[in-house]
Amino acid sequence: MIRRLWVQLALAFTLVTTLSVLMTALFTNTRASADFRTFLAQSQVQQLDLIPRLTEYYATHRTWNGVETVFASIRGMGPRGMGPGGPGMMRGPLELMLADAEERVVYASVSGSGSAPRLSHDDMRQAMPVVVDGTTVGYLVARLQRDTALSAAAQHFLAQLNQTLIQAGLLAGAIGLILGVIIARGLTAPLDRLARAAHRLASGDLTQRAPVAGPVEVSDAAEAFNAMAASLEEAEQARRRLLADIAHELRTPLTVIQGNLRALLDGVFPLEKDEITTIYDETLLLSRLVADLRELTLAEAGQLRLNRTAVDVSAIIAQSAALFTAQALEKQVTLHTDCEPRLPPVLADADRIAQALNNLLSNALRYTPEGGTVRIVAARAHQPSCASPDTDMICIRVIDTGPGIPPEDLPHVFDRFWRADRGRARAQGGTGLGLAIARQLVLSHGGSMGVESEPGKGACFWFTLPVTHTSVTSQPLDASYSW
Ligand code: ADP
Repeated sequence: MIRRLWVQLALAFTLVTTLSVLMTALFTNTRASADFRTFLAQSQVQQLDLIPRLTEYYATHRTWNGVETVFASIRGMGPRGMGPGGPGMMRGPLELMLADAEERVVYASVSGSGSAPRLSHDDMRQAMPVVVDGTTVGYLVARLQRDTALSAAAQHFLAQLNQTLIQAGLLAGAIGLILGVIIARGLTAPLDRLARAAHRLASGDLTQRAPVAGPVEVSDAAEAFNAMAASLEEAEQARRRLLADIAHELRTPLTVIQGNLRALLDGVFPLEKDEITTIYDETLLLSRLVADLRELTLAEAGQLRLNRTAVDVSAIIAQSAALFTAQALEKQVTLHTDCEPRLPPVLADADRIAQALNNLLSNALRYTPEGGTVRIVAARAHQPSCASPDTDMICIRVIDTGPGIPPEDLPHVFDRFWRADRGRARAQGGTGLGLAIARQLVLSHGGSMGVESEPGKGACFWFTLPVTHTSVTSQPLDASYSW
């Protein structure tokens, strides 16, 4: 129980309040009896008309020499039994000290105190000024003698004061305890709720959210917790979606292989080369799917090894175009390249960039009908069609005259396993991972990839790469990355 934050806070509040009230009471008590004695002494001085007498003496003589006569004249009048609180407030004689304007003692009624040449700081606190013609010409200090006992009435007054102080202390302590508990509970309740939500999240309930309440620090922590919980939930949903997608993608070729093998075994299909080729093609699709998945996972995890050098983009484009020339001729599609002259080099892994570009080209050729055109355009990235207005980038666009992509599909084209027409794309050997991999490759180079399309008028896939200021090192492309 004592380890709970609210209990510790409440105890701390109570301790601080009680201690401060006790200190105040102790201090007030000490001061009160001293100030009360001063008050009694000053009241008697007033009754003896001492200040007006001293004022008159100084006004007449212009010096304090011989002032003892004033004190001698009042000695017989003794204040005994004439205190301000009525008769019997004090029973001892007064100690009187007079100092000049420079605080030098010129008269002391008791020899012990008279030996001090100047008034102390404490004396000055109690001193009554003697003012003549608007100028302070001296100070009178009056106090009860140290051993003077206070009368019963005065003692009763002080006892009452002490009692009031103790009651005030107890009341303040009790209020401190109540306030301490209320404030500490207010502070720790949101923390408790946050801890409970964290426990439930840890036990697998990813929908848990903590209420955002309490002091700024605690509500900030709750907001951070909620953001973390939301991203964990999102990641979990993405993981489940991915697993479901992978299972779905693997199941189709496996079903085809299984069905065909069963048919061969049962003698439904003849054991001929064509049948075995179909099965073999499905295994190719399977291994490609697995290879693509591995590549995408590595790229997303930032674990793909990139051999970055200064690369001439025009050279990569020329090589990719050459790679697809035969396919374009076969499909009767015109393949153009259009590179801005003197393009600066980019800092990239040439093989990986060729891989991304080849994927775009392969798609463009696949979707462009006979008689259409596919253009590869490279320029500095200030064209309005490129999303990046950064002039330190180069933008490469692959523009086709195919069917294009409907606006509602545009946000999904880079998603894993997304295909406008699943069956058809798979039949053509597509895994639905090509664009996701290409985009991830470009992202890991510090670039970006996007698409613009108008249905019926073709599609424009573009990507940007950062320009480097080092000169190009000629590097042969690795043919294994061609699409
Ligand atoms: P796949 O390997 O199945 O082609 P991609 O990730 O490369 O997978 O492409 C995903 C989907 O995006 C394709 O199935 C297709 O529907 C669409 N797509 C890609 N490129 C084009 C294009 N140039 N024109 C029209 N649709 C395209």
